[in-house]
Amino acid sequence: MRIDLHTHSHVSDGTDAPQDLVRLAAQAGLDVVALTDHDTAAGWAPAVEAAHEVGITLVRGMEISTRHHDLPGRPGVHLLAYLPDPTYPPLVEELGRILDGRQGRVPAMLELLREHGIEVSAEDVLAASGDAAATGRPHIADALVTLGVVRDRGEAFERFLSAGRPAYVGRYAAPLTDMLRTVTAAGGVSVIAHPWGRSRVERPDEADLAHLVEHGLAGIEVDHQDHSPQARDRLRAIGGNLGLVVTGASDYHGAGKIDHDLGCQTTAPEELERLLDLAAAAAEASGRTTPGVVRP
Ligand code: AMP
Ligand code: ZN
Ligand code: FE
Ligand code: FE
Repeated sequence: MRIDLHTHSHVSDGTDAPQDLVRLAAQAGLDVVALTDHDTAAGWAPAVEAAHEVGITLVRGMEISTRHHDLPGRPGVHLLAYLPDPTYPPLVEELGRILDGRQGRVPAMLELLREHGIEVSAEDVLAASGDAAATGRPHIADALVTLGVVRDRGEAFERFLSAGRPAYVGRYAAPLTDMLRTVTAAGGVSVIAHPWGRSRVERPDEADLAHLVEHGLAGIEVDHQDHSPQARDRLRAIGGNLGLVVTGASDYHGAGKIDHDLGCQTTAPEELERLLDLAAAAAEASGRTTPGVVRP
């Protein structure tokens, strides 16, 4: 049983259509795949159709941009929300705010690029983002690739787009503890994506995670390409101490991210079962109509 619980389609900053992603997941030998585009459920419907077609189990989710306001530096936290009712008004409202923030910063980033002598137009970005509901820096990166300024997304981030680089502009992210409660109230479950993936500092630490459990956190993504073996060992131990569900996933972005192939990291079947049990309990308690798992 091979389970990959974190993937992106071109509805956010992946490069495959949702239905293609699901077909590729089946071809890669996965039994279960979750579609978790950034801040949107826009890819769910075509993914469901493809899942029926190829006979794979599909978990509908999203990766929500949040910020931990209680921690020094207010670090950004990517929160994987599985199986929430996507029509739950507080969730819809907050995702709208995040998507507006994503769109709203594009002109500022283009202006900063212009100050560095690089002309990228809004149309160039639109051509790169296509039908994406969630515009992101990777789309600006793709525009820079098309214009021949950089070789690939990696170079674009390194030279211009990463935090601290000349064209970086921050954006709105939802308060983490509020979002944990919102996801639960929407009948879904929350898992922190790559908790130690991007900063060298080990944060959130065990005490922070324990605090988040009180707000409804159900799990942490441990097996992720951005985690060192040492980080995984420590996170796995913390997950055990706190009774968290421990997941693993590719964070697949199609051609947009190298070394993140479908199924390159996976979740143990018993961990998925725990996660789905928690989701079923949350759905029941919420009284919402939740999407449920699509089974072959
Ligand atoms: P944004 O959503 O606009 O804040 O951009 C963050 C997204 O860019 C995340 O989904 C990352 O997966 C992606 N990303 C960050 N760094 C890189 C990189 N070096 N190469 C490709 N994608 C990246
Ligand atoms: Zn992404
Ligand atoms: Fe992420
Ligand atoms: Fe991701």
